[in-house]
Formats: sequence, structure tokens, C-alpha cells
Amino acid sequence: MLDFDTCNTARLRRDPSFDGLFFTAVRTTGIYCRPVCPVRQPLTRNVSFYPTAAAAERAGYRPCLRCRPETAPFCPA
Ligand SMILES: [Zn+2]
Repeated sequence: MLDFDTCNTARLRRDPSFDGLFFTAVRTTGIYCRPVCPVRQPLTRNVSFYPTAAAAERAGYRPCLRCRPETAPFCPA
């Protein structure tokens, strides 16, 4: 798993090379996203990162309706 700072920098840049390498979960909304998600960036103190969509779901998060992390082609879920 990538470290927090690496994930956080990637999501703030919406870096497509990190798409599929981690998922961003937002505590305040209960949603998880891909790094390239077009929605407004949550505050760093409200996010946590998961290596797979399944891991984020197990932690109780729901998939984002904009970036569809659960249907991404690299994701077997
Ligand atoms: Zn999203």
C-alpha cells in the first residue's frame, strides 16, 4: 500500500497514473472515490486511503456516483 502523503498528493493532482492503485474514502460523506474523481476535493483531514474498492466497502463506505470506483475496469468487484 502507498503511504498517505503519496496518495494525498496524487488525489489532489487527480493524477491518472494512480487510478486503480488506491481509493480515497471520505469520512464526512461515507463515500469512496478513484483518484481521478471530478467532484470537489475533500479536506485532507477527512480522507483515508484503501488499496482496493472492496477494502473501502468493507470499511463501510459506498461508491461514488461520479467516478464509479466499483465498476472501474481494473476492479474485479
Ligand atoms: Zn468520486
